[in-house]
Amino acid sequence: MTERRFDGRVAVITGAGRGLGRAYALLLGSLGAKVVVNDIGAAMSGAGADVGPAEEVVREIKAAGGEAVANTDSVATPEGGKAIIQAALDKYGRIDILIHNAGNVRYGALAEISNEDFRAVLDVHLLGAFNVVRPAFELMCKAGYGRVVLTSSIGGLYGMNNTVNYAMSKAAMIGLNNVAAIEGAAHNVKCNAIVPGAVTRMADGLDTSFYPPMGPELVAPVVGWLAHESCSITGEMLVAIAGRVARAYVVETEGVFQPEWSIDDVAARIDEIRDPAGLWTLHPAEHGHMDHIKRSCEMAKAAG
Ligand code: NAD
Repeated sequence: MTERRFDGRVAVITGAGRGLGRAYALLLGSLGAKVVVNDIGAAMSGAGADVGPAEEVVREIKAAGGEAVANTDSVATPEGGKAIIQAALDKYGRIDILIHNAGNVRYGALAEISNEDFRAVLDVHLLGAFNVVRPAFELMCKAGYGRVVLTSSIGGLYGMNNTVNYAMSKAAMIGLNNVAAIEGAAHNVKCNAIVPGAVTRMADGLDTSFYPPMGPELVAPVVGWLAHESCSITGEMLVAIAGRVARAYVVETEGVFQPEWSIDDVAARIDEIRDPAGLWTLHPAEHGHMDHIKRSCEMAKAAG
């Protein structure tokens, strides 16, 4: 049996002091990667700081015979993002893998949430992703190699009560994933997103008693494959939850064409417009944008 290893590769993992990120760091570290374990050691809200979680994971990786270094810069600012990527260069001279996983949570109903709570979550999940991907992507493209894994969520795909900040940020990973995959293609830089589900401290307060085994170690191998040089996909989203691994993607119905529309026409044909028979599943990194335009125009031409 072959074992996919990461010897010679340098991985930066944000939010790797706890939960899912810790599991990714331990797995990659055990398979030969040199790991930058980034984590500010914040409370769930993102407040506070503690070097303990990042340092503890580094200790665990080293105790198992691996190599790692702790970094406690915040993903929430451009300067922090640069410093996190620079830590990989300073210690190991390169970066091959970036897993943006850091996260915080602040609940609030859409009609009530404060700007501060809205912004604090966007800063870590959404802008945080850009803050680390931007400097890493430049280096990866120059080097002609890179693997980026972003973290989306069912909260981003389907939404949930009291989480507008989180839902918007996690949905935004689709956009970054697509562009990084498209722009990275010529440079052997692949970018994919994980849609994870695992019992971590994010589940504190939820009733998890009916869950099957749902630890972060069930998600880590999927992220490991996305981070590996043999990863064959880019611009895609993989789901990993409670032992189920699947692909999530954007689809369109084929829809209907007519040369002119009125509001009443839309009302009359809404079932046909929404009919899922013949779904279009255009691939973002394989000309999805152009295919969408071309196929839409072809319907008009075919009718006319
Ligand atoms: P977690 O709270 O256990 O770990 C997140 C880590 O990110 C924490 O250690 C925290 O200190 C760190 N962090 C927070 N702000 C940071 C910052 N500004 N800079 C650097 N590090 C920071 O949570 P988790 O459940 O392991 O979640 C990991 C990721 O997976 C998050 O992006 C989360 O939104 C996503 N996710 C988790 C689940 C799940 O079921 N647990 C589901 C969907 C998505």
